[in-house]
Amino acid sequence: MCKRLAPLLVVLLATTAPADEAPPPLSVLVLGSGGPRLSSRASVGNLLLVDGKARVLVDAGPGTFARAGEAGVDLSALDTVLLTHLHVDHSAELPAFVKARALDATEPVHVRVFGPTGNPLFPSTVSFVEGLFGPRGLYRYLRDFGAEMRVSAENVPARLGSPPRAVTVAGDIAVTAQAIHHGDTPAVAFRLGVGRRSVVFSGDVDPSGLASLAQLAKGADLLVVSCAVLDPPGSPEALYQRHSPPKRLGETAASAGVRALLLTHLPPAVSAQKAQVLASVRTAFSGAVTFAEDGLRVSVEAPPR
Ligand SMILES: [Zn+2]
Repeated sequence: MCKRLAPLLVVLLATTAPADEAPPPLSVLVLGSGGPRLSSRASVGNLLLVDGKARVLVDAGPGTFARAGEAGVDLSALDTVLLTHLHVDHSAELPAFVKARALDATEPVHVRVFGPTGNPLFPSTVSFVEGLFGPRGLYRYLRDFGAEMRVSAENVPARLGSPPRAVTVAGDIAVTAQAIHHGDTPAVAFRLGVGRRSVVFSGDVDPSGLASLAQLAKGADLLVVSCAVLDPPGSPEALYQRHSPPKRLGETAASAGVRALLLTHLPPAVSAQKAQVLASVRTAFSGAVTFAEDGLRVSVEAPPR
């Protein structure tokens, strides 16, 4: 490794603010950092907290609902869900969040779900949501179970090369969606901006989607990226058609000029090799690097003026 890029001290602020301190303006609460295989980590999911309040759920893999409960978050302002793709390890607990939201609300609730278009193997996000919560959906009982509940969905173009798309959510949060590539699975990445701060969630991305991801993540303060394989030949060959190795993730973060990287979706084989993964990311990227853990809160720091 070149000396210029020698490992720097990891300084990403990743702490829970004491109760008497104002919460950070923008932070990410990692609900799940593992998946899809059985491990002590929940599968993928994150909450975007604005001034300490949960506003956006990004993916909802198995285990994330209990992690939100453990973290003691208040879901009363959670009205937006972003699904990077519809694999089980990113979407299976959506109904649990919707139900909890309906049960605790006193006013009518409208949850909006954004995610990729479909293909012959996967429903579109609109079909997925309709199939769960629509008039003929599997969980149609939720419509009248708690507060008056409406769950609507919007498809985001998932064909690689589609232009980035601004998604309209709550006024103070700007969201841009970008088609990426995850093997045969329609997939999108999301960039969220609040004031001067910005964070990008890659979801799962294979190497052919990295250029699009870098474009979306340009200059972002934090990139939350799936790190589900080791550099070749460390992981089963088939996984490289769906995931990008650490070295490529570091190169992507460097070319995008992001300030910090949060590695998530860590299977046991990857989390057992953190030093090797970090060294590999460091061959190109010199910003802060953190390995996600369930329950970790990461403050998104504003860029210097
Ligand atoms: Zn996944």
